[in-house]
Amino acid sequence: ATPAATMVGTTIGAQNGVLFKGGDILERAKDVDTVVFDKTGTLTEGAMELTDVVVFDGDGQPVTDGGDTAADGGQLTAHDQLSKEDVLRLAATAESGSEHPLARAIVDGAEERGIDVTDPDDFENVPGHGIRATVGESEVLVGNRKLLRDNGIDPEPAAETMERLENEGKTAMLVAYEGELVGVVADADTVKESAKDAVSQLKARGVDVMMITGDNERTARAVAEQVGIDPDNVRAEVLPEDKSDAVEAIQDEGRKAMMVGDGVNDAPALAVSYVGTAIGSGTDVAIEAADVTLMRDDPLDVVKAIRISDATLQKIK
Ligand code: ADP
Ligand code: MG
Repeated sequence: ATPAATMVGTTIGAQNGVLFKGGDILERAKDVDTVVFDKTGTLTEGAMELTDVVVFDGDGQPVTDGGDTAADGGQLTAHDQLSKEDVLRLAATAESGSEHPLARAIVDGAEERGIDVTDPDDFENVPGHGIRATVGESEVLVGNRKLLRDNGIDPEPAAETMERLENEGKTAMLVAYEGELVGVVADADTVKESAKDAVSQLKARGVDVMMITGDNERTARAVAEQVGIDPDNVRAEVLPEDKSDAVEAIQDEGRKAMMVGDGVNDAPALAVSYVGTAIGSGTDVAIEAADVTLMRDDPLDVVKAIRISDATLQKIK
């Protein structure tokens, strides 16, 4: 492209909230044949809300009526039947040390339900898996199946409950207290209004659309279905440090991928992708690693970026 055409393209982009980091990026965007969306915060609002609290009895069976609050005021032991409120209080206390959106939703949800959430005595993030906290003298775990297994706790009794919630597109998290599975809490996110349109417009241009997430397979597929992404194009349970490898694997198939993400987690994946795109209220790290920054939070601007590149370069041919 001539410098003049490039300037026109970048200017039109800027006027539309699409910032190309340079003329070469503007030229490259039209050749993208695969768009890889991060799920949380990119296709979804990233504003999680607590939706479910399920408590299990000593045999690992869900308690339907919620039970009574055990040992109110006294020291809880895993052998007492906990109530829903107990489970939520434990989870929220453990998570109050974490900045993760899943954690914030649990803490806010507990407070909205009148629970007084205190700080844990100690906590440790287990990236991609959950959190381990000390509450009083007791260990509390909140996270996925792998977190429990790695700590010698069998998540199997919760399988049916977990699957039910995940099929609804929710992120379900197991809660363990003093080495025993005591409950499940679930957060839900809402799909962005324009996500489905963005996917269908990309497909109409002949662009393959994929999704990548640290979330579990079942939740990921439920969300993919809502926005029109083929289940085979979902890469789930990808650890933060493995996201860039996943993008490289996609590109090793000869694809020119535009990775679209918002989080700190996404920066390395944005950096390796053919055109890395940071969306909306993305973190500074993501914006720095990206080739294109979308000022708005709108997945349709991904289509706009490709279209502007296409139009600019066609005109000068
Ligand atoms: P994402 O890619 O969606 O941002 P992460 O890689 O941060 O997801 O986390 C992957 C999974 O690990 C989550 O879906 C959840 O099951 C679990 N997890 C991570 N952090 C937490 C947390 N603070 N509390 C509970 N579960 C968590
Ligand atoms: Mg994210």
